[in-house]
Amino acid sequence: AKDDSANEGKNGPGFKGHSMLAPFTAGWQTTDLHPLVIEKSEGSYVYDTNGKKYLDALAGLWATALGGSESRLVDAAMAQFKKLPFYHSFWNRTTLPSLELAKELLEMFTARKMAKAFFVNSGSEANDTQVKLVWYYNNALGRPDKKKFIARAKSYHGSTLIAASLSGLPALHQKFDLPAPFVLHTDCPHYWRHHLPGETEEEFSTRLANNLEQLILKEGPDTIAAFIAEPVMGAGGVIPPPSTYFEKVQAVVKKYDILFIADEVICAFGRVGTMFGCDKYNIKPDLVSLAKALSSSYLPIGAVLVSPEIAEVIHTQSNKLGAFSHGFTYSGHPVSCAVAIEALKIYKERNIVDQVNKISPRFQEGLKAYSDSPIIGEIRGTGLILGTEFTDNKSPNDPFPPEWGVGAYFGARCQKFGMLVRVAGDNIMMSPPYIISPEEVDTLIRIYGEALKETE
Ligand code: PLP
Repeated sequence: AKDDSANEGKNGPGFKGHSMLAPFTAGWQTTDLHPLVIEKSEGSYVYDTNGKKYLDALAGLWATALGGSESRLVDAAMAQFKKLPFYHSFWNRTTLPSLELAKELLEMFTARKMAKAFFVNSGSEANDTQVKLVWYYNNALGRPDKKKFIARAKSYHGSTLIAASLSGLPALHQKFDLPAPFVLHTDCPHYWRHHLPGETEEEFSTRLANNLEQLILKEGPDTIAAFIAEPVMGAGGVIPPPSTYFEKVQAVVKKYDILFIADEVICAFGRVGTMFGCDKYNIKPDLVSLAKALSSSYLPIGAVLVSPEIAEVIHTQSNKLGAFSHGFTYSGHPVSCAVAIEALKIYKERNIVDQVNKISPRFQEGLKAYSDSPIIGEIRGTGLILGTEFTDNKSPNDPFPPEWGVGAYFGARCQKFGMLVRVAGDNIMMSPPYIISPEEVDTLIRIYGEALKETE
């Protein structure tokens, strides 16, 4: 795990033990290792300060959908910087780019009709905003006890206090006194890991929906406000839903008047082979969280899409009770909005969903061909997102000893051979930019294979 061979001495003097308290970075990493310092990007590649080139197989952090050198996004930002670098959207003052982007998003999201878009700066802020919207909504409806949220084990919804509470990853809770008491967690829908002997995917989905219903009944349906889910789980290890899962789960939450929040922060804008994850799995959400590919991550921006029913309650109540007092200085930042408008234009003009569907079989099939490796338990994914889980005996029940650092070793080999992936324990995750070429997919598969051979 402490293998530094990919970086040793290459990233300039003075960076080891640097001054940044870095996100999701262990103390030993900054003291024992050189950081990987990225200086430049071009298409599907990034370059470190030594000029070494890496295929960016995670698109930054599932983020730079259009790769690292889309000049139209830069031009859109520059034009807006020159015209109006900043104005806010509080108190019925706003800017043209934020109005245009809101309209555009509502038109693009067709899984069901949405009425309003609320702008934030990140996926975490989007999910924090969801909780406040839902609480406001239930308070307005005179249901002050309907406040609990149900999320799922292994989910990732961000790292602010509330988003981390919603997340179902122990590392986000331990040592932070989280999750907050209003958050409950239900099963992770990972068929390979959790199905019973002989249980089909459909039966597994039925059991999970029943478990969800039991949890709701145990807590009291009048106390449960909302259920939140990523269409395809990302940071929990890339877990596409089992067959019929969302159909069954939606029926349960609907039965108890519980809102459905789709966290589309990773899935939206083509990643899973449809414009939104909701399209792929026939999800009809009440609220949607967006970020990342919204601007191809060239500038920070996120959004919450709000259903007509919720928007109506907020509208009429705020006439009576006062404004929905929530928002950020940078909500609807005009330059971020201008970049997002351009990104959405590009997705439409280039028919990005078709582009993803054209390239993704090469990516999925090429990598899944390694499934026979004795150290791989499962390779799973859809569209341009894929996870690999290393286990012994091809079994979810035989993890390798954590001190072996199998995943970390594989990740370091990839890095050495010129590719960046995400490592979380023995899970490896990849989500390359949509612009990845067939030749680059072949390179990705080749490097994966070389790293795998050394790891075996
Ligand atoms: N929701 C999901 C599904 C995510 O994957 C992430 C980040 O990876 C977030 C929310 C949090 O987004 P951010 O890091 O922009 O706060």
